[in-house]
Amino acid sequence: MLVGAESSFAALCANEPELSVLRASIRDFVAADRAEFGWQPAVDAWLSQWDADFSARLGGAGFLGLTIPTEYGGHGLGHLHRYVVTEELLLAGAPVAAHWFADRQVAPGLLAYGTEEQRRRILPEITAGRFFSAIGMSEPQAGSDLAAATTRAVATDGGWILNGRKVWSSGAHLAHAIVVLARSTPLDTEHRHAGFSQFLVPLDADGVSVEPIVMMDGGHHFNETTFTDVFVADSEVIGKIGDGWHQVTAELSFERSGPERILSTAPLILGLIRALSQQAVDERTAAEVGDLVARLISLRQLSVSVARALTAGESAANQAALVKDLGTRFEQDSVVLVADLLDYVDANSAAQPALRAMLATARAHSPAFTLRGGTNEVLRGVIARGMGLR
Ligand SMILES: Cc1cc2nc3c(=O)[nH]c(=O)nc-3n(C[C@H](O)[C@H](O)[C@H](O)COP(=O)(O)OP(=O)(O)OC[C@H]3O[C@@H](n4cnc5c(N)ncnc54)[C@H](O)[C@@H]3O)c2cc1C
Repeated sequence: MLVGAESSFAALCANEPELSVLRASIRDFVAADRAEFGWQPAVDAWLSQWDADFSARLGGAGFLGLTIPTEYGGHGLGHLHRYVVTEELLLAGAPVAAHWFADRQVAPGLLAYGTEEQRRRILPEITAGRFFSAIGMSEPQAGSDLAAATTRAVATDGGWILNGRKVWSSGAHLAHAIVVLARSTPLDTEHRHAGFSQFLVPLDADGVSVEPIVMMDGGHHFNETTFTDVFVADSEVIGKIGDGWHQVTAELSFERSGPERILSTAPLILGLIRALSQQAVDERTAAEVGDLVARLISLRQLSVSVARALTAGESAANQAALVKDLGTRFEQDSVVLVADLLDYVDANSAAQPALRAMLATARAHSPAFTLRGGTNEVLRGVIARGMGLR
């Protein structure tokens, strides 16, 4: 139990002594690691900056698997501890993509539904920053309407045979495994969400092929992953056969409300503010910066309040959808605002080239901010229904 968040304002700050100490130590780690290994701050690093060595160093320093119980090799801390660490990593633009999905989604999934053997085998590796996973949910005809997924799993001796195709599988070309949502019972049109199961499929298994989907700026983060008669052992089934839909949706609040829905462009915003603070600025420029930061801070308070609700075991699906809708729209707006404000940074400023490069990446990635993790249009429907709309 954290002490020191007695007032409602203090609760929004996530500054209890224990969290402040953790924040200082992750900041020290990031500064020292960057000084030694020379990585550059990047926007949207959680999707695109894959660095397995960084993840192993982060894990080795004790900053991964924070919410994993100690009996499974983790640190036995809470969601707010993880929030503080991920927030600092995103602010620094650190190369966090390799471990991102394993630490954010696979670990809680295994803790909630995995077998004892899976937990003992995989969770210590996630904590150490040595196990990387992709997520295989979306298909060419099944994105927002995920229940239309047709990848199928058929029972066989000692396991399952998988056939099908997943798209947008971020990092599947580099990860060790992919969590696949597949139909284990043929479609029943009256109960479309029934009959799904989850499988942890090694990406080097026979019959798995990973083809790149290259972004318009040449970046390769996405893939199309095809499964042709892939044997998956029973030991790699996550949770109960037939419970896949419930398992996938139960974790969405964690996925949608995190700091990565607000801070994808933070290194760019912070870089701009640092550059502007080196020179005199007029009132209009100062007001625009103030507006940007005020929006960022209020969104952050909303996101922290969801993390607190989840820590208390409360359901926060609606608030999480709200964070993602408002947060990712802010991320997109911030790209446009920074592009304007960058013109006010001295042309001779040493910061200009790095800021321009980050801006170009942010522009290329910006359309995806409101799509990934469920599109904002669909989330607005979730919010309205959660408020009682029939
Ligand atoms: C950067 C990025 C990373 C991703 N990573 C992964 C990953 O690792 N693994 C994975 O499985 N998937 C991943 N995805 C896929 C993502 O989850 C889907 O793109 C998303 O769910 C939308 O599906 P879709 O692209 O098929 O669009 P569609 O569902 O076809 O939607 C098209 C348009 O129609 C709108 N629309 C659809 N239904 C409704 C409705 N009911 N009401 C109002 N509007 C509607 C949508 O808002 C959208 O604008 C990623 C996507 C992006 C952009």
